[in-house]
Amino acid sequence: MALGVYVHLPFCPYLCPYCDFAKWPLRRSAAHEYLDALRAELEREPSVAASTIFLGGGTPNTYDAQALAALVRDLRAHFPAPAGVTHEISIEINPELVREGDFEAYAGAGIDRVSIGVQSFVAAEIATLGRKHTPADVERAVRAARAAGIRSVSLDLIFAVPGQDATSWRRSLEAALALEVDHCSTYGLTVEAGTPYERWQAREPRAFADEAREAELYDLAITVLETAGFEHYEISNFARPGHRSRHNANYWANGEYVGLGVGAASYRAGVRAVHSRELATYVAAARAGQPIPGEVERLGGLAAVGEAIMLALRTAQGVELSVFKERYGVDVLERYAPVVATYRDAGVLELIDGRLRLTRRGRFVANDVCGAFVVFA
Ligand code: SF4
Repeated sequence: MALGVYVHLPFCPYLCPYCDFAKWPLRRSAAHEYLDALRAELEREPSVAASTIFLGGGTPNTYDAQALAALVRDLRAHFPAPAGVTHEISIEINPELVREGDFEAYAGAGIDRVSIGVQSFVAAEIATLGRKHTPADVERAVRAARAAGIRSVSLDLIFAVPGQDATSWRRSLEAALALEVDHCSTYGLTVEAGTPYERWQAREPRAFADEAREAELYDLAITVLETAGFEHYEISNFARPGHRSRHNANYWANGEYVGLGVGAASYRAGVRAVHSRELATYVAAARAGQPIPGEVERLGGLAAVGEAIMLALRTAQGVELSVFKERYGVDVLERYAPVVATYRDAGVLELIDGRLRLTRRGRFVANDVCGAFVVFA
């Protein structure tokens, strides 16, 4: 199976109040040191073939394009594509940071997929989310990416933002369509522990969407994007034909991946290892050529199968029963009979052509259904 490589670039020009990723406000000296640490970690990593490389963050384009291009060249040399496979190389960017010539530098290094952190095209929502771009920045970024020959352009959007309603959410979706992008990721806002949003919600719970409102907005996204010809290929992801994210598809297929950088996760040979989320700890260990401190978990037996089912159910493809039988030696329908029966009776799971998958209604309760397979033993 394909191997994916994820590289975490954790610096941001400002910190958004809802975010709980591993991220730090940009300081040039720290960002420079961090790249050295990443390269040191890369050198310790076995050089193996990988199909996809993903630069995520944080905000990768806080680094200048030449530095990113050099990093990508090193990664490609260290993780060459398997015979007969072309690398998919993705980068996440913030639109307001795009400079002239950036996408040409990315494309020259082999980056063929750009994921733009837009979240909303509505000024009041952009402000609520603490973001600094304008819709014009997004348009400029999409056009520049196209002009440089980037193969796939994706936008991230958020629904259930305080103050958002169906009309304003539709405006964002239609603005994305007007830019003729290839892929959209739509995420329901999650209030994470320890963020300023958590404190806001504690003070003013009514400012936040309830489940019914969130479902209404999710439903609108599915309708608008599917009507425009996008495949809803994963709970939060929509693609025009030929533009699914191969890197993320590998996660959902329970494939193996290597994570480099602070807080990054790897999964190989049934072992999941997550690096420390402390920047200083990561940088010190990597630069000293030491193993990165973090957590290691061996997934085996039914826990591994439950996890694989949870991931597969997120996709339109669902759980391929014959593949699970072959790969894990488990007859999913038999082993999980009570869970399958409960959710089939409720009309949220269906069995089609040897695959178990969520129905359209099931997509709205995906977390509950997927979670039920993980806890079932
Ligand atoms: S730009 Fe992205 S990673 Fe950085 S704080 Fe905002 S949401 Fe988090």
